[in-house]
Amino acid sequence: MTNEQIWQAVLGEMEISLSKANFVTWFKDTFISLYSEELVIVGVPNAFVKKWLEEKYHKNILVAIEKVTQKKINKIEYHLENKKQFNNQNNQQINTQPQNNKPIIEESPRENTATKNVYNKFGLNPKYVFENFVVGKNNELAYAACQAVVRNLGKAYNPLFIYGGVGLGKTHLLQAIGNEASKFTDKILYTTSEKFTNNYIQAVQTGKGKDFKNLYRNVDLLLVDDVQFMGGKDGTQEEFFHTFNELQQGNKQIILTSDRPPKSIPAIEKRLISRFESGMVADVGRPDIETKLAILERKANEKEFPLDKEVLLFIANHIQNNIRELEGALNRVIVHHQLKNATPTIRSVKEILSDLIANIQLKSLTPKEIIETVAKFYDISYKDITGSSRKKELVWPRQVSIYLIREELNTSYPTIGQELGGRDHTTAMHAYNKINTELKENENERIKQEIESIKQQLAGSVY
Ligand code: ADP
Ligand code: MG
Repeated sequence: MTNEQIWQAVLGEMEISLSKANFVTWFKDTFISLYSEELVIVGVPNAFVKKWLEEKYHKNILVAIEKVTQKKINKIEYHLENKKQFNNQNNQQINTQPQNNKPIIEESPRENTATKNVYNKFGLNPKYVFENFVVGKNNELAYAACQAVVRNLGKAYNPLFIYGGVGLGKTHLLQAIGNEASKFTDKILYTTSEKFTNNYIQAVQTGKGKDFKNLYRNVDLLLVDDVQFMGGKDGTQEEFFHTFNELQQGNKQIILTSDRPPKSIPAIEKRLISRFESGMVADVGRPDIETKLAILERKANEKEFPLDKEVLLFIANHIQNNIRELEGALNRVIVHHQLKNATPTIRSVKEILSDLIANIQLKSLTPKEIIETVAKFYDISYKDITGSSRKKELVWPRQVSIYLIREELNTSYPTIGQELGGRDHTTAMHAYNKINTELKENENERIKQEIESIKQQLAGSVY
């Protein structure tokens, strides 16, 4: 294996466990500049990335390299090095050493690693189009709404609000709308709520508020990804509210995505919630087995590495969470077999994905992990949940924790009370019954969605 191949496979590993944005931020322009069992040097483009890789991802990188190479590595260092320069020098070396007849580094078999992401002038990834979006029961409503909207900008549903868990295709759909619309208009703006926030703060600080307004209000189509991050940012919400109104009144199309329904976004103004709900709200859910199969089949064919149905079925059955992970697992399988020039079988695939699959069965959740996940979901701390404060915004997550511990682990009420900071068993019982009633008898959609989102994250944390 060449260093390049090793690193591509390592990137494949990392990509599975990270959000796309994180992955691109931290792994773009990284490479292996030296490889030996004594020392691996990873070239990184700047000090910021160096620090992050050292502090946050070092362990994962080590595990991934060892896994890919099947060798123990003594040490990894991260050095500031320029990838282009490195490649040039390396090519020269190959040229000046004719005895070295290693194959010329092949084009990587993976195309969606950090280095290969190309965005068009609207900031859209041209790969995200309707044509390669697989429609199933889980996303047909959202898909149909997107289709309707793109054909009638500003007239069908305005805004269109798409929500659902991580890795289920929201960004793909949002950008597909942008890519489709770019065939007939130039006035398209794709942004994330974080980018909107940063731009806004910068505009205010540099006295360019007017330019900012012009930029965001002078479009036919505004696409805002991950709008849940506007929660708690008052100035941004105020500005977005006005942007929103002006666009909506001018019949300009707005499309938003979020990881949860409007009402469940924490610390967001009521008037924004009602704006978000004023058009069409559509969810994307987890795919069923047929949809997963169709997605895998399609992606394998796109990579010109078709796989047997039974192999696809094996992957579909064992990767539970979301489509990003499904894709990651498939990429891993493909890279591995391409490197070894082997044909995938259930047996080989099982081996390659063994860590993902075994963990699902072996590692079980603990009450502590449930509380941590709930805390993270509501953006509060573990101590907030187990503490004694009776503030409304803490009582609800506490009740949700109780419900989930009971539901997922079947823990006794006295033990749940203990886990929740030494509460009485009647408190636990009351909380469980309350939520159970909301779900089963009142069929409260919002709560159902909320619990479902947390369950998805719990499933994720088991990996
Ligand atoms: P989200 O924004 O909901 O977190 P993404 O849109 O980033 O998820 O999707 C994660 C990955 O899964 C992307 O590579 C995307 O292309 C792929 N994907 C998601 N849903 C589908 C689908 N229905 N058909 C094909 N690919 C999909
Ligand atoms: Mg997304």
